[in-house]
Amino acid sequence: MADERTFVIVGASLAGAKAAETLRAEGFTGKIVLIGEETERPYERPPLSKAHLQGKEGAREKAFVHEPGWYSEHDVDLRLATRVTHLDPPAHTVTLDGVDELHYDKLLLTTGSRVRTLPVPGADLAGVRYLRTLDESDALLAHLRTAANVVIIGAGWIGLETAAAARHHGASVTVVEQADLPLQRVLGDEVGRIYADLHRAQGVDFRFGTSVASFTGADGRLSAVELSDGTSLPADLAVVGIGIQPNTELAVDGGLAVDNGIVVDPGLRTSADDVYAAGDVVNLDHPLLGRRIRVEHWANALNGGKAAGRALLGEDVVYDRVPYFFSDQYDLGMEYSGYAPPGEYDRVVFRGDPAGQDGFIAFWVKDGRVLAGMNANVWDVTDPIQALIRAGYQGRAIDLDRLADPAVPLADLLA
Ligand SMILES: Cc1cc2nc3c(=O)[nH]c(=O)nc-3n(C[C@H](O)[C@H](O)[C@H](O)COP(=O)(O)OP(=O)(O)OC[C@H]3O[C@@H](n4cnc5c(N)ncnc54)[C@H](O)[C@@H]3O)c2cc1C
Repeated sequence: MADERTFVIVGASLAGAKAAETLRAEGFTGKIVLIGEETERPYERPPLSKAHLQGKEGAREKAFVHEPGWYSEHDVDLRLATRVTHLDPPAHTVTLDGVDELHYDKLLLTTGSRVRTLPVPGADLAGVRYLRTLDESDALLAHLRTAANVVIIGAGWIGLETAAAARHHGASVTVVEQADLPLQRVLGDEVGRIYADLHRAQGVDFRFGTSVASFTGADGRLSAVELSDGTSLPADLAVVGIGIQPNTELAVDGGLAVDNGIVVDPGLRTSADDVYAAGDVVNLDHPLLGRRIRVEHWANALNGGKAAGRALLGEDVVYDRVPYFFSDQYDLGMEYSGYAPPGEYDRVVFRGDPAGQDGFIAFWVKDGRVLAGMNANVWDVTDPIQALIRAGYQGRAIDLDRLADPAVPLADLLA
């Protein structure tokens, strides 16, 4: 018998596209409607601040999740440039662009996140830019090809990767950051310092412990960034990378539980019947970490989207992946697994020399338990690192001298 059900996915990006792909791969033959307000078909965002922003040939095309024909070939009704404006869970309907009502049997919200904006005078001057979408990356790339003085606000992942791209294009680069070090909120001081050194060695100037008071310019164009400490930095391009916020408005409109993201259980179920959520927008009750967490990274969109596809089909999903992300800056590539923000670890153990040429692994440890690990220019170690983190979160302490010793295979540490 034909499956008459309609599954609607709101948010046509990585998580949504992977959910649609999983539904078809698992044999779902009902209707799939994938709705997104952007004009491009689903794409992955990491190249937007890396290969594409550096102008590497072919990087733009490689960013797309599927070939253009994939959606029709798999009978996925992809509706781009369409915003879902209303959600009515009791009626099982969503409203498109304020007009058309669409019934769903199951609904997946993958509405992701958007940039936080900087509300200071002059923020609307031409030359003040943000980076979230492919269009913004295209425009930023064009600007980087000609910019002389680039000021980046925020020394997080987006800010630092953009700084690396700007140096690649030969601009003079200053990074402004409120904290004392880059990436401090995620990595802490020990590894934050490594990133500061990396960028300084590439000619980047940091201004820590200060923020932007205003942008100034002439004829509507940016010419300087004024800092709260009184410094004026000449700039023909400013890139603001001060974090993101989850797109929860639709969930709020539908009366779903929302608290720093859409609240979901380990099965990716929201508080409304037949409504699931995945990706950046989700605040997950994480079974391994034993806390609620919102993960704003690529792997969570990829794997969460796939898991949500299975959940829509009625599978009993337990989404407990170790949080994971990666970053590439200059010739330093890294992968980070786990969760150990400052205040939650008592020491960082290095395996290998962070100042050396051969790469290293950093482990964030508490009471001998590994809570997070970052391999930098060391590859194919994610599985054993994540095994250590799983064991650590389950309460297992290990020998830290052996952890620091590159001669001891990682897999032996749990033996
Ligand atoms: C420049 C950049 C570089 C990155 N680099 C890395 C990296 O190196 N490593 C890493 O791990 N992560 C990286 N990330 C993060 C990663 O890209 C995100 O975690 C991922 O995109 C989240 O995917 P998502 O599908 O959950 O949401 P999103 O990608 O945010 O997509 C959500 C989509 O839903 C749409 N939408 C929202 N509301 C509605 C509505 N009401 N109606 C219709 N459509 C709607 C939005 O327009 C958007 O297209 C990067 C992000 C950026 C911006």
